[in-house]
Amino acid sequence: MTRLVWLVSLLLCGGCAGGGAAGELGLVVLAGTLAFGFVVWSIEGGKKGRSKRAAGKLTNDRGTMLDQAMAQKKGQRLDPRSRKIIAGKMGLYHWLPKELMKPWEERILAFLEHFPITFMKRDQATEEMRLLVAAEACLLIVKRPLSDYRHLRVIHLWEHEIEGNESARGSADRHEVNLSWGYLKKTIGQARDGHNLVLHEFAHLIDFADDGVAQSIPVSNASPDFEEWRDLVEHEHARLMKAYEDGRNYSIRAYGGYESIQGDKPEIFSCGTSAFFERGSRLRRECPQIYRAMSKFYGVDPARWRKQKRV
Ligand SMILES: [Zn+2]
Repeated sequence: MTRLVWLVSLLLCGGCAGGGAAGELGLVVLAGTLAFGFVVWSIEGGKKGRSKRAAGKLTNDRGTMLDQAMAQKKGQRLDPRSRKIIAGKMGLYHWLPKELMKPWEERILAFLEHFPITFMKRDQATEEMRLLVAAEACLLIVKRPLSDYRHLRVIHLWEHEIEGNESARGSADRHEVNLSWGYLKKTIGQARDGHNLVLHEFAHLIDFADDGVAQSIPVSNASPDFEEWRDLVEHEHARLMKAYEDGRNYSIRAYGGYESIQGDKPEIFSCGTSAFFERGSRLRRECPQIYRAMSKFYGVDPARWRKQKRV
């Protein structure tokens, strides 16, 4: 019964950051589209009618499979063309330390193979769309396992507004992420404003993964870090609300404090994650406990990142 929580906890994130070819080519495109549609349909349809126990087992098996897939990518690199597309659009690419490039690219390659990304729930997303979503999603887990995304089934990109959720730029539940491509494309170049749509929504996915609840505690209640996270969220929520009541600018966005669902506070972790990666120094100065906890959880130290001379 408690697992019903995630069903009703679709995160609206209203404030998220914030062929026509002929002949053989046409047939190939058509066949590819149909095959892709079938994969998405199978995945979506497969969720229904599956018993909870079977779903749990599948999820654990899927996590193992994803980690094995990532291990198989060891030593593989993105091709220069893909890297150029990412470098040309993604602001954070230019801040990523050199020693993280290899593990990051390995994860991107595995991610692209295992998560379908649609455009308007109808077509496969373009290469550029897929690369940019994968690149940002894998930044979160650059020092973590791909099984963090073991519950994720599909990512839907929308031209502008998200169907059925028109006021939001992104949303996430335990199995699905929706993103406004128009908004993503416009904002992905900004690496230091503390808002990041993909990091924000995938942080929700990680928060859901351990226990089916997004309450800004990304570890399960069996973890030795659970109590610390619970206290941190309460403490930080109070500080955040006080800062905004006093009219002070703050490293974590106000949305992170105002939005709560059934008493949980899901946006502290998601807005905090965007601040951690994009405004690390400031978050470390203003909220050292949150910064330390995130640094331990994500295994990185963005306050020390410096802009790289990279083409
Ligand atoms: Zn959110």
